Amino acid sequence: MASQDPVSPSHATFDLFVHAQSCKEVKHHFAELCMQLDINPEDFRTFYIKLKERLNYWKAKALWTKLDKRASHADYQQGKACTKNKCLVLGAGPCGLRTAIELSLLGAQVVVLEKREAFTRNNVLHLWPYTICDLRGLGAKKFYGKFCTGSLDHISIRQLQLVLLKVSLLLGVEVHTGVEFQGLIEPSGDNGWMAKLQPGSHPASTFQFDVFISAGGGRFVPDGFKHKELRGKLAIGITANFINRNTAAEAQVAEISGVARIYNQKFFQDLLTETGIDLENIVYYKDATHYFVMTAKKKSLLKKGVIKQDYSDAEKLLAPANVDYEALYSFAHDAAYFSTGGKLPDLQFVENQPGRPDAAMFDFTCMHRAENASLVRERRGKKLLMALVGDCLVEPFWPLGTGIARGFLAAFDTAWMVRSWGMGVPHLKVVAERESVYQLLSQTTPENTSKNYAGYSIDPKTRYQRVNLSSIHSNQVRTVILYLLNR
Ligand code: FAD
Repeated sequence: MASQDPVSPSHATFDLFVHAQSCKEVKHHFAELCMQLDINPEDFRTFYIKLKERLNYWKAKALWTKLDKRASHADYQQGKACTKNKCLVLGAGPCGLRTAIELSLLGAQVVVLEKREAFTRNNVLHLWPYTICDLRGLGAKKFYGKFCTGSLDHISIRQLQLVLLKVSLLLGVEVHTGVEFQGLIEPSGDNGWMAKLQPGSHPASTFQFDVFISAGGGRFVPDGFKHKELRGKLAIGITANFINRNTAAEAQVAEISGVARIYNQKFFQDLLTETGIDLENIVYYKDATHYFVMTAKKKSLLKKGVIKQDYSDAEKLLAPANVDYEALYSFAHDAAYFSTGGKLPDLQFVENQPGRPDAAMFDFTCMHRAENASLVRERRGKKLLMALVGDCLVEPFWPLGTGIARGFLAAFDTAWMVRSWGMGVPHLKVVAERESVYQLLSQTTPENTSKNYAGYSIDPKTRYQRVNLSSIHSNQVRTVILYLLNR
């Protein structure tokens, strides 16, 4: 039988790129591949075509088949819908990268800025069935062989970012890490909209764009957008990642896909009696790490010495100075040990920074949601379409696992909006349509969205069961746009 091993240096580099396990390695092997094949990654318009022509490797072909299938969707108009558009995406989290992929398929020039140098988040995300189907369609399984095998429906943030980074680069997206976005620079002279960056001399600081997508996560709200705060009763989350040695014994331990107090009183009562730990719920996923996330009761955290002093203000309560980290590690360890029936006897924390166990406590009492998803600004005759995606649009409620599902829905909706923008639809209509679709986002569940996952595209009608693209009229968004035009 003929050997299937790579026969040329570029084949070997492609394999290294596909299997790279850090952001740095991905970028390094990608640069090497471009050099070996003599392709300039900045030629975004022809990059993917040249790559396919020059990398005649069976493993790569299997991936091209997948990407070509996606790219051939009529919505993208053969990559010509947005050829005149230049898009700046802030944030290389899952939602920023997923949006960037769609924008590049539409034919736009896409630049992504990420302030971190490394992808380090081990926390594991639950995926809705449609997101699994979507990621398979982008070749996730080729980049990460273990992706959602069997009944697994989760992936670590880090691994998801790596998959999406690789796809983005192959499609000609420019991704810059270690560069912080600090604000927009208004057009002046011949220059259009640009970004103020740190470091200021970064090459991307000369990039002029007409579309700005903020995917900066959590509380990152660009100028011009307003957030609503939804305040619930105090909710304290704890995450913990333990080393997975992938032994047979570890493989036997059952995951806990979500157990809440109201459904299993006895489990939580026994946990309290045996350990003094009082929880509302707990989730355990076995991924690259043993990942636990739980909601803990304040009284129990105080009693166990995790929180030093009681305050009514959640920010003060969970301020680092008020947390005893050794006690937090014991708390997370004991909860993990008990909830897996002691079957993970050697629970050792993953270190996220040298010497720092990967365990964190966070407050999710307040959830933020942007009042609107898009805006148009105009200065000196130059219009800028602005949009929010991911957590900075709607902060997810982690026990429902809505982060990636709603994040990707918003990424597709945003791409649909940019498509209209690129095709010359009047800007009031573009924004009105986006806001009409945005009305639906917070109510979406796996049950009330279309089950035809293979039919999902950036067109909202393929995903939402009942969508009225003109439920908000152009004249209702006129005030927002005019207000911004005049600021
Ligand atoms: P992020 O992942 O936060 O990415 C934003 C990126 O922007 C970051 O990389 C950041 O460095 C970068 N950035 C920020 N500011 C700047 C700047 N000025 N310049 C340059 N770069 C910048 N979701 C699920 O779907 N399922 C789950 O089961 C789930 N569980 C969760 C459990 C916990 C404990 C938590 C806290 C969240 C959970 N989520 C879950 C939510 C999920 O993590 C988020 O929805 C997801 O990571 C959001 O992706 P994002 O791209 O919007 O933002």
